[in-house]
Amino acid sequence: MVKKNHENELDLRGFDKELSSADAVESRRSAIEEISGVSLKNIGSSSLDYSALVGKNAENVIGSVEIPVGVIGPLRVDGRYANGEFYVPMATTEGALIASVGRGTKAVSISGGVKARVLKDEMTRGPVFRLESVSDSEEFLEWINENYELIKEAAEATTGHGKLNSIVPFVLGNNVWLRFGYKTGDAMGMNMATIATEAACSYIEENFERAELVAISGNMCSDKKESMVNNLYGRGKSVVAEALIKKEVLESVFHGVTAEKIHDTNLRKNWLGSARAGSSKYNAHFANTVAAIFLATGQDPAQVVESSSGYTWTEARGEDLYISVTMPSLEVGTVGGGTHLDAQKEALMLIKAYGSGDPPGSNSAKLAEIIASAVLCGELNLLAALSMKELGKAHRKLGRNIK
Ligand code: NAP
Repeated sequence: MVKKNHENELDLRGFDKELSSADAVESRRSAIEEISGVSLKNIGSSSLDYSALVGKNAENVIGSVEIPVGVIGPLRVDGRYANGEFYVPMATTEGALIASVGRGTKAVSISGGVKARVLKDEMTRGPVFRLESVSDSEEFLEWINENYELIKEAAEATTGHGKLNSIVPFVLGNNVWLRFGYKTGDAMGMNMATIATEAACSYIEENFERAELVAISGNMCSDKKESMVNNLYGRGKSVVAEALIKKEVLESVFHGVTAEKIHDTNLRKNWLGSARAGSSKYNAHFANTVAAIFLATGQDPAQVVESSSGYTWTEARGEDLYISVTMPSLEVGTVGGGTHLDAQKEALMLIKAYGSGDPPGSNSAKLAEIIASAVLCGELNLLAALSMKELGKAHRKLGRNIK
């Protein structure tokens, strides 16, 4: 059945109005196959329960694409929330990535594991207001301060788990941004923070009439964009993970590399290289590990942009290596978004971090500690491989299947 709208084009959404979720997906796919002449047999072969994602996760669905999932582990984590050994799922089509993080995991776990801590936890939304003049802006900022509790009440009336934690103002000319920061329990919190901030902004506009809301997101949030504000103030979970790798482990796992050599590579590559390139990401490849775990566990993939910001720091401590990763804006949840889909749910269950934690917020913090720990393993391995001039060799073997 090919459904047409009044302009006689394919009515992509019309299928959902009259058919069950599964039938709508099938009919829409058949219509697209007919129009394009392309068989979508593999996209159509899916284990997804479409009724669970309609109105939540995607529109105009015609099937799904599969991504291989591998695991690394056991990864030993000593966190405030994640404690023990974990097999961590990673979804990727990049050959050599899982093996690379896996080798780092081996070295780290033999050395006693990773210590990880979530130092700040706050999801943000940053609306922008237009005012007439700087004196209005000044009064506006004073008014926001004086009425903070009433604004908080308006925001929190929209959610059971969201708690307003801060409002940080920024000014440019006659524009004022209010960067709202929320505790969001186990949710990544972007819908929650948006809905709560909309209610807060309605209250503000009703009670301070000289402030005109221009946009609920004024890019000072900053969602899905590279920004210094997230690096400085944090967004989602701000996490630090560290490990001490013994000289003997460096030698045996990484073919004789020394702490001094890895430290030198880290300084010249991650710090000097990033500074010279004008990058704000002082790391080797946080994005690789973050993206793979995000895809496996149902996180919002576009938030890899800011979730992969951060810094890799090393020190040669005698002949041992101290290594840490600092991730100011790791945006993750264990409820909401894609976390409830069957496969993603299993991936979260594998690391015992699915759903609401007890207390709320502890599961998403656990996931953040595990991701930061895996990211550290990826950094360690890549720095060691680069130091030993082994990067191309691994990719020839595992990325191209060339012996
Ligand atoms: P959500 O699924 O929209 O909201 C989470 C829900 O879970 C809330 O209804 C919350 O109820 C409930 N909940 C139950 N147990 C909870 C617990 N232990 N902790 C926290 N909440 C709990 O998820 P979200 O994290 O707010 O938003 C994620 C989605 O936002 C993703 O799909 C993402 O792609 C999307 N997104 C939206 C925007 C945007 O601008 N709106 C931007 C980027 C991404 P209460 O609220 O009553 O507590």
